Amino acid sequence: MTSFTREFDTPVFKGKVDFPTGVYINGKFAAGSDNTTINIINPTNGEIMAKVAEATPKDVDRAVDAAQKAFDTTWGLHAPGTLRAKLLNKLASLMEEHQDRLSAVEAVNNGKTFNWAKYGDVAMAIETVKYYAGWADKIQGKTIETSKGKLAYTRHEPIGVVGQIVAWNFPILLMCWKIAPALACGNTIIFKPSEFTPLSALYLASLTQAAGFPPGVLNVVTGTGPTIGEAISSHMGIEKISFTGSTKVGRRIMECASKSNLKNVTLELGGKSPNVIFNDADVELAVGWTSHGIFWSAGQACAAGSRIYVQSGIYDKFLKLFREKTQSLKLGDPFSTDAYQGPVVSKEHYDRVMGYIASGKADGATVYQGGERHGDAGYWIQPTIFTDVKPDMKIVKEEIFGPVGVVIRFEDEDDVVRQANDTVYGLAAAIFTQDISRAMDVSERLKAGTVWINSALEVNAAIPFGGYKQSGIGRDLGEYALSHYTNVKAVHVNIGNTRI
Ligand code: NAD
Repeated sequence: MTSFTREFDTPVFKGKVDFPTGVYINGKFAAGSDNTTINIINPTNGEIMAKVAEATPKDVDRAVDAAQKAFDTTWGLHAPGTLRAKLLNKLASLMEEHQDRLSAVEAVNNGKTFNWAKYGDVAMAIETVKYYAGWADKIQGKTIETSKGKLAYTRHEPIGVVGQIVAWNFPILLMCWKIAPALACGNTIIFKPSEFTPLSALYLASLTQAAGFPPGVLNVVTGTGPTIGEAISSHMGIEKISFTGSTKVGRRIMECASKSNLKNVTLELGGKSPNVIFNDADVELAVGWTSHGIFWSAGQACAAGSRIYVQSGIYDKFLKLFREKTQSLKLGDPFSTDAYQGPVVSKEHYDRVMGYIASGKADGATVYQGGERHGDAGYWIQPTIFTDVKPDMKIVKEEIFGPVGVVIRFEDEDDVVRQANDTVYGLAAAIFTQDISRAMDVSERLKAGTVWINSALEVNAAIPFGGYKQSGIGRDLGEYALSHYTNVKAVHVNIGNTRI
């Protein structure tokens, strides 16, 4: 069976990482049933750096059997909330112990910097597991008065075997957003990471094993979307699917769910989020957050503020400072001490983002900053700002998912609200103003699942995250996510034995 073994000797992390990279089913790592593997590429140089097992639909069947057995015997209604909380807390402690190693794996596989992985992604993944550990023994229904001699109560029961499929941009974080609430509620899981970034999911699986989760409670199958992803979303033994990825694949997931067993679907999809800066904003503050909002993680964030609307009174000042800020962002080795941005995740994605930059140039937009490849090897792209754009250009309408922002001048509030809402997406928005009444009014008028006032791209385990319109269905995080992982059962009790 394959494994990932590497001795890191870098300025930010020194140490050995070693874990199996087979499929993780019923508490054991093994080769896939066809014994084939997937090559995992290091995006800083394009070289193969690991192999993981390629699961088959047969492996998904095996995983579902194991998950159902666990649900019926050791988990589900058989594991009290206190036990689920204890195991989730144990997992969080192990993640803290392994924080540097998990971050190194995330950096080497995804291309994000070690420091952002450690203090951003992995730190928040740990917070998420702890947060849902706190909920595990508080999943409870209500007692409802009916009439004399009768009452009803509700039970929030785990759904059963749930499928979870995620994207490659925040691998371990998205995994914890999915698995932690599902486990807290008592479900068992078939989890599929992206075929581009499966390493941290397998590392985390080994930590769940060490934490003492019973076999079959969490199963990780590594494979491609059209084979394993479809096998999960079409499976008759999986009763719920939660997905994070593109809107295109989200549609397909829903189709497979509807054609199979009508499994319950939660979707966290793409975005083209507006970032609105009014004349009365603190311009330096707005520049800082706007830059973070579009360039953090090389712009590979679903809620990236990629449409930047600036009111005419501060347009020139903002643009000048925004360019200076962008020029100060250091691109470099993810394991250096001071790199802000690493490469994008893969050759395919590099080509896609560069294709959008080429389309902006061809459509007549001005490249105000960047617009080229950075370096000779690997997949770095210069942080790029376009100006002089038109509403129907592809770079204004479509999700680029890279370090590319468009800056658009606006005159008044109604105008900017109309433009900001002129999109099929509705994931997030940011507003910069010192006028709290305007901030609250505009945040109400924007059709988005999250609105940041005077900041951007901030997430918190306790705060729901998800989209309006084609950005998704349902919410990850917070108390809201729990409702996606339980079935509500109403029990009517005729206490007084009333006869009919
Ligand atoms: P993607 O949709 O191509 O892939 C996501 C996952 O779906 C991967 O695991 C992939 O293997 C799987 N998949 C692909 N085809 C499938 C199929 N036919 N059936 C089932 N599964 C299939 O997305 P990506 O390129 O990995 O990620 C980028 C997208 O993810 C962007 O659109 C981004 O906005 C979105 N995203 C959204 C959120 C959110 O919370 N809203 C968070 C992160 C990323």
